[in-house]
Amino acid sequence: MMKSDKEKCMYCGACVGSCPKNAIYLEETRVVFDEERCVKCKICVKVCPVGAISE
Ligand code: SF4
Ligand code: SF4
Repeated sequence: MMKSDKEKCMYCGACVGSCPKNAIYLEETRVVFDEERCVKCKICVKVCPVGAISE
Protein backbone atom coordinates (compact mmCIF):
# COMPACT_ATOMS: atom_id res chain seq x y z
CA MET A 1 0.00 0.00 0.00
CA MET A 2 1.24 3.51 -0.81
CA LYS A 3 2.20 5.73 2.06
CA SER A 4 3.54 9.21 2.65
CA ASP A 5 6.31 10.09 5.08
CA LYS A 6 4.90 12.66 7.47
CA GLU A 7 8.36 14.02 8.24
CA LYS A 8 8.99 14.85 4.58
CA CYS A 9 5.53 15.79 3.30
CA MET A 10 4.83 19.52 3.06
CA TYR A 11 1.19 19.15 1.92
CA CYS A 12 1.73 20.69 -1.48
CA GLY A 13 -1.08 18.63 -2.99
CA ALA A 14 0.86 17.67 -6.13
CA CYS A 15 0.25 13.96 -5.58
CA VAL A 16 -3.50 14.47 -5.27
CA GLY A 17 -3.75 16.05 -8.71
CA SER A 18 -1.41 13.50 -10.29
CA CYS A 19 -3.32 10.36 -9.38
CA PRO A 20 -5.25 9.01 -12.37
CA LYS A 21 -7.53 7.05 -10.05
CA ASN A 22 -8.32 9.84 -7.62
CA ALA A 23 -6.99 7.64 -4.86
CA ILE A 24 -5.23 10.36 -2.87
CA TYR A 25 -6.78 12.79 -0.44
CA LEU A 26 -5.30 15.53 1.69
CA GLU A 27 -6.62 15.56 5.21
CA GLU A 28 -5.69 18.22 7.73
CA THR A 29 -2.59 16.53 9.02
CA ARG A 30 -1.86 13.76 6.53
CA VAL A 31 -2.08 12.39 3.01
CA VAL A 32 -4.50 9.50 2.67
CA PHE A 33 -4.35 6.76 0.03
CA ASP A 34 -7.47 4.82 -0.97
CA GLU A 35 -6.26 1.26 -1.30
CA GLU A 36 -9.36 0.16 -3.19
CA ARG A 37 -8.74 2.64 -5.99
CA CYS A 38 -4.93 2.58 -6.15
CA VAL A 39 -3.48 0.62 -9.07
CA LYS A 40 0.16 1.06 -7.96
CA CYS A 41 1.14 3.05 -11.05
CA LYS A 42 3.51 5.09 -8.83
CA ILE A 43 2.91 8.33 -10.68
CA CYS A 44 2.47 9.95 -7.27
CA VAL A 45 5.92 8.75 -6.20
CA LYS A 46 7.50 10.46 -9.22
CA VAL A 47 5.51 13.65 -8.79
CA CYS A 48 6.24 14.26 -5.11
CA PRO A 49 8.90 17.01 -4.97
CA VAL A 50 10.36 15.80 -1.68
CA GLY A 51 10.27 12.04 -2.25
CA ALA A 52 7.81 11.47 0.56
CA ILE A 53 5.78 8.70 -1.07
CA SER A 54 6.77 5.06 -1.08
CA GLU A 55 5.04 1.71 -1.31
S1 SF4 B 1 0.28 4.66 -7.22
FE1 SF4 B 1 -0.94 5.57 -8.89
S2 SF4 B 1 -3.05 4.98 -8.45
FE2 SF4 B 1 -1.87 4.64 -6.56
S3 SF4 B 1 -2.12 6.51 -5.37
FE3 SF4 B 1 -0.23 6.74 -6.59
S4 SF4 B 1 -0.85 7.80 -8.49
FE4 SF4 B 1 -2.71 6.97 -7.49
S1 SF4 C 1 3.31 15.45 -3.42
FE1 SF4 C 1 4.57 14.77 -1.67
S2 SF4 C 1 4.89 16.64 -0.44
FE2 SF4 C 1 3.17 17.02 -1.82
S3 SF4 C 1 1.33 16.47 -0.63
FE3 SF4 C 1 1.93 14.66 -1.82
S4 SF4 C 1 3.25 13.47 -0.44
FE4 SF4 C 1 3.11 15.53 0.39
